[in-house]
Amino acid sequence: MFFKEKIISPLERFFDDARWLAIWVPVALIVPNVVLSITEPVSALSAATNIILPLGVYLLSMAACKRTGIQALLMIPFMFFAAFQIVLLYLYGGSVIAVDMFLNVVTTNVSEATELLGNLMAAMGVVLALYVPPIVWGICAAIKKSVVKSHFRRKMGVTGGILTLAGIILSAAAVLTVKGYSFIHETFPVNAISNMVEAFRRYSDTERHEELSAAFSYKAVFNGNPEEREAYIFVIGETARGDNWQLGGYDRPTNPYLAKEEGVVFFPKSISESNTTHKSVPMLISFANAENFDSISHFKSIITAFKEAGFSTAFISNQLPNRSFTEHFGNEADTTIYIAGDNLETHPYDEAVLAPVDRLLGDTLRRKQLIVVHTYGSHFKYQDRYPKTFSRFKPDDAIDARLSNRDQLINAYDNTILYTDFILHSLISRLKQEECRAALLYAADHGEDIFDDERHRFLHASPVPTYWQIHQASLVWLSPRLATENPEMHEALCRNSSRRVSPQKSLFPTAMQLASIESPMVVDTLSLVSPDYNPAPPVYLNDLNQARPITACGLREADLIHLAPLLDD
Ligand SMILES: [Zn+2]
Repeated sequence: MFFKEKIISPLERFFDDARWLAIWVPVALIVPNVVLSITEPVSALSAATNIILPLGVYLLSMAACKRTGIQALLMIPFMFFAAFQIVLLYLYGGSVIAVDMFLNVVTTNVSEATELLGNLMAAMGVVLALYVPPIVWGICAAIKKSVVKSHFRRKMGVTGGILTLAGIILSAAAVLTVKGYSFIHETFPVNAISNMVEAFRRYSDTERHEELSAAFSYKAVFNGNPEEREAYIFVIGETARGDNWQLGGYDRPTNPYLAKEEGVVFFPKSISESNTTHKSVPMLISFANAENFDSISHFKSIITAFKEAGFSTAFISNQLPNRSFTEHFGNEADTTIYIAGDNLETHPYDEAVLAPVDRLLGDTLRRKQLIVVHTYGSHFKYQDRYPKTFSRFKPDDAIDARLSNRDQLINAYDNTILYTDFILHSLISRLKQEECRAALLYAADHGEDIFDDERHRFLHASPVPTYWQIHQASLVWLSPRLATENPEMHEALCRNSSRRVSPQKSLFPTAMQLASIESPMVVDTLSLVSPDYNPAPPVYLNDLNQARPITACGLREADLIHLAPLLDD
């Protein structure tokens, strides 16, 4: 009786009163705006506009229709954006939903997405609590045809109108007084919607790649010995942080094989121009980079360059085809092999690439070969990336991505690097058997945050990168024969190992020069085997596909401290 009187009845009255629904919707919708106004480095006028103007518009919208239930349901698209934004704020601690985030949703396979969602229970809880009640409530109110009194709607409308007007005045003031202010880019959800439209445009360009790039040619000419056997393997790593490689000075023995391998040159000052797979990988395997990325739909990859020069080519991937440029580029090869499939229960370990590489190299009809290998490397969840025999750093079995698990996450992560060390060593050993001119090039697409500082960030691909997301691992190995035949290349490579490197700018010309392929698209001074190597100013490809100087791409003080020694060239 008490329970019914004190709890059930008031709740019933609350939910029967559509006025509360009319208030709930704008309040729930403005939550991400309030958080963004705190997290984003914007002016006070911009922050105020970002709260007052949308709140005014939401109140006006809810006042527009006397059937509040129906009006609440009409607001569902805004609830979708707000929910998506809250999840991202939880993940990255800031930044509006970026163009890349929409593209990541399309280019990340389902199991990856659910792996990440498993760690987002808190964010999901907030989202469900805020947005499910008004939807259920809206449906009930719509069925019951609940209406709110006109004097309440009028009050709400007037309040909404005043706030909207105030927001417009604030925004106008920001336009006049704040340098670089952009209403579209600094007001949620206008910015998120604009980014979604841009994502659609880019996605359609990717889909049309074959047609747009049909006339493209590297005008590549082979300039070496046509009789000589040559084999080059270009390995694209996944999420390998430069800081966790023993070869780069890490104090754990994560590279026991490569550390002993003659001819391996590691580049500790390698900084990626992107923190997302779908942009970084296509740049690594083509002459695209941050400066010309907007034209990438018109380019082809290094596979085509080698084909033009008479090489037999293969693309072997342990990632799923994901409709990005990587997939289009991979399809250029004479042989394209995908090891992982949606139908497999667990993602194969990277050692699955070794058998097809072995087969291809064993084919004596292919005298000159390029094999591009796309690994799954250190992609979260780390402990799923290596067999138990590589579980050297222990304990490594904490699954949840939580700060309290950091030590275990780092152990598991280091085991993935240990395993990558083994994979690269195996590929090098296989190339050695050929006793020919050969080289292996390796670059990870980006790094990753693993709760490294007080920001407690995790994963990669955030709209604004961190130091940990862009400092990745790059290395080159030359076969004894190639090093002997071209001592100048070997010397230059060793000398350049202390220089700053953009893998996106340098791996392509390096591979081309190693294979004696000339092309007008090869910039000699960006090649790591060139004695005239001269790194370009470091840049970052931002969400709007603009190349920004690395120190002006949104990195914070905590990042710049770590980055400074790498920039010192
Ligand atoms: Zn990646």
